[in-house]
Amino acid sequence: MSAAEAANELSVYQSMAARFDVAAAKLQLDDGLTQYLRSPNREIIVHIPVAMDNRDLRVFDGYRVQHSFARGPCKGGVRYAPNVTLDEIRGLAAEMTWKCAVVNIPFGGAKGGIVCDPVQLSHGELERITRRYTAEILDYIGPERDVPAPDMNTNEQTMAWIMDTYSMHMRHTVTASVTGKPVDLGGSQGRREATGRGCMISIDEALKRFSWKRQETRVIVQGFGNVGSEAARLMHEEGYKIIGVADVGGGVFNTHGVQIPALLEYAKENGTVQGFPGSDSIGAQEILEQECEVLLPAATESVISSKNAHNIKARILAEGANSPTTPPADAILFDRGVFVIPDILANAGGVTVSYFEWVQDRQGYFWTELVVNDRLKNIMVAAFDEVAHYAEKHKVNNRIAAYMLAINRVAFSVKLRGIYA
Ligand code: NAD
Repeated sequence: MSAAEAANELSVYQSMAARFDVAAAKLQLDDGLTQYLRSPNREIIVHIPVAMDNRDLRVFDGYRVQHSFARGPCKGGVRYAPNVTLDEIRGLAAEMTWKCAVVNIPFGGAKGGIVCDPVQLSHGELERITRRYTAEILDYIGPERDVPAPDMNTNEQTMAWIMDTYSMHMRHTVTASVTGKPVDLGGSQGRREATGRGCMISIDEALKRFSWKRQETRVIVQGFGNVGSEAARLMHEEGYKIIGVADVGGGVFNTHGVQIPALLEYAKENGTVQGFPGSDSIGAQEILEQECEVLLPAATESVISSKNAHNIKARILAEGANSPTTPPADAILFDRGVFVIPDILANAGGVTVSYFEWVQDRQGYFWTELVVNDRLKNIMVAAFDEVAHYAEKHKVNNRIAAYMLAINRVAFSVKLRGIYA
């Protein structure tokens, strides 16, 4: 593989576009509509001046890409990382459109990011970066326009800062301007766990197809942040056997099962899972290649590529992270008979409960956690069944089926709105 081909394989936008093209061709969409749905609606680049703690001025690059407004306001996370690129944000924004359509909620997709290394930044610096980023994109966000949420290295606190900055400019509190907020500021019960819970619900549905029991199902989780740790905790509680967990620095492995409650405590104290007593050390990439029934990559993109897909031994791949698998790896996994629950289905629990949060904020009436979890389950199970039905009907793999289902829904909305007039 040439260097250019390798770079292309790792491009999040190119990965999305390759899958989109296959699905759009199967749906026989016309060329103009294909081009329209493949392109983002708006791309915003900002350069954010921020006073650092030592009074130096630094400028950070930030992005917000809004892919589609066809079915409602845009919705998508904001991530902070040193390697954030416009290509990545563009690809993830489009994926959000397809994800919202797969679970049939009335949003289009967006994504945002700031090029920064949160590990090197103080609490105060992060707050100033977040507030200035919000101010720079203020005209383009809001409950009816585009609603940010947490993603890699952002959290409830980040959302509270965004909501506060937005509200200061609007001269009144606008809780529905972000989701993934603290519950005390209009956040939803169950939002923190929602992405991990959604992963578990979709894995439960896959297990039914294999007639497997949770107790006999070995699971490996890569990533121990919001998605990975909540998925591991919930799955452990429900009887799954979690045999390996990794974070960015490395992982821990125990064929008899890792004690997840103790690991959560350990990670909280030590900032990493590494060194957890009673388990073997293992590399963060190496862990993906171990024997298990379910592999849950819940860290970052492109970790399963043409380089390692041949070595994946899991029977079910549930994509907690966005875009963890590249298109060349898709083909290899399909040949190997791996049952893939694609990201736009597996991790859609987060945006689904974000939708519930937005609804609750707009109503000013809040639901119990039981109601949230029940409604989440109904949506996830229905979406899983629809994707599986599409895959069987059109004789395609689950990822292409999910894309077809989603693109068909968005294309239908575009046509109904009369874009051709
Ligand atoms: P997070 O920042 O809370 O956690 C990320 C975790 O991944 C950390 O444990 C980190 O150490 C680990 N990690 C990072 N790079 C790694 C690597 N190369 N190898 C192994 N571990 C690595 O982020 P999060 O919110 O849990 O998001 C994780 C993924 O899930 C991202 O792809 C995100 O886009 C996606 N996602 C998140 C949500 C959500 O609600 N938070 C919803 C849908 C999808």
